[in-house]
Amino acid sequence: MTPTRWLAEYAWLPDRAEPTADVLIEAEDGRITAVTPLTGADTPTAGVEVLGDATRLPGLTLPGLANAHSHAFHRALRGRTHGGRGDFWTWRNVMYDVAARLNPDSYLALARAAYAEMALAGITCVGEFHYLHHGPDGTPYADPNAMGAALVEAATQAGIRLTLLDTCYLTATVDGEPLTGPQRRFGDGDALRWADRASALADTVERTGGTERTGGTERPSGTERPSGTGRAGETGRVLVGVAVHSVRAVPAEQLATVAGWADRRGAPLHVHLSEQPAENDACRAAHGRTPARLLADHGVLGPGTVAVHATHPTSADVTLLGDTGTGVCLCPTTERDLADGIGPARRLAEAGVALSLGSDSHAVIDLFEEARAVELDERLRTRRRGHFAPAELLAAATVAGHAALGWRDAGRIAVGDRADLVTVRLDSARTAGVPPVGAFFAATAADVTSVVVDGRQVVADGRHLRVDVPRELRTAIEAVTR
Ligand SMILES: [Zn+2]
Repeated sequence: MTPTRWLAEYAWLPDRAEPTADVLIEAEDGRITAVTPLTGADTPTAGVEVLGDATRLPGLTLPGLANAHSHAFHRALRGRTHGGRGDFWTWRNVMYDVAARLNPDSYLALARAAYAEMALAGITCVGEFHYLHHGPDGTPYADPNAMGAALVEAATQAGIRLTLLDTCYLTATVDGEPLTGPQRRFGDGDALRWADRASALADTVERTGGTERTGGTERPSGTERPSGTGRAGETGRVLVGVAVHSVRAVPAEQLATVAGWADRRGAPLHVHLSEQPAENDACRAAHGRTPARLLADHGVLGPGTVAVHATHPTSADVTLLGDTGTGVCLCPTTERDLADGIGPARRLAEAGVALSLGSDSHAVIDLFEEARAVELDERLRTRRRGHFAPAELLAAATVAGHAALGWRDAGRIAVGDRADLVTVRLDSARTAGVPPVGAFFAATAADVTSVVVDGRQVVADGRHLRVDVPRELRTAIEAVTR
């Protein structure tokens, strides 16, 4: 099998402070097999003449972007929650109205369209924090994982990889009030029953689902790199991880069941952490400690764990997150949209916390916007500039995000990594005249022209090759908001 070859006008290679000009990238069976900066070539055009079979990628080519925190169905809320005042809690009531209307078919349609929008934005892998498990009154579907299966199918059809974070959600408040109304469909009763269902889902995905192959039967020798957990197979496209919804939703004595599941399976474990001061206050009142401390005391924090938001941690919490090797997924556009506050991104990074990014509620789906917000929010707080170098923002959007989702063989343009290539035009009204290193401060998702996932073209000329994204979004959202 002959390798596929691309010639990038600029490519951002690992451990480089800025992009490199004229890079030849080769891939076979979905893996990068060679990365060659054409130093000495006179111009990119000269390179193309020599390398006639290489597809030219004008602009800046990045590794695949990872969206480490998503609730796909929240896409239906975009633009619908801005009529009045309110906060996170009033927004949540509107979100529950949409949640109540979804079934496996409408969930598939909405998630497929949302994931295809992500592909258009250069996202090659998404972490879906999935808690919409059962029928509207809490009765399981005939297949208790019908909703999870819809998400697996949606990601496969949209052409991106998925880490399905099956979420344990048992109670309505930190002191154990039962789930009521629209929350009933989130609950499994207790953590042991949740674990049984999550195991069934993981076993099914491992056996059959989401391991769509990238073509060919063997990878060339010399390209072996360990994948995150190995359970998705060499070129598999779906991993099952798990999540604790929050300290509100899982009683303290059941936290260890979720953490144990992740440990046994070597799977990623995510948890919403300190998004709201009210959550901190309630946790202190019920347990005499902060949410981060409570999670640590029950084995939830650690190198395989990602805390989502961490907007209102104490100084001791920041140290604790760093000392335990826990990652943090920042979701700045959602935190902004919901008036949550600004997380301490620089202090977390200095404590040794790996930062990743998520579009969470999908008020926008644009990892360039998320990445620059990490720096710009820090500027607003400190009234100083220059907290994060462009290469640090790139790492958060790419390699750290993939690692947070259990894919340790993705997120770099490097031999042996998955062949994910995201090309951003540098000739749009937004990016013309911008030096390639400045792309994270100028480009938007609309500037992504080409997306390759595991060696396969998913987006070309700014269009998704399989999904009419605006049409499918409109139809899917109308079906659940009327
Ligand atoms: Zn979330």
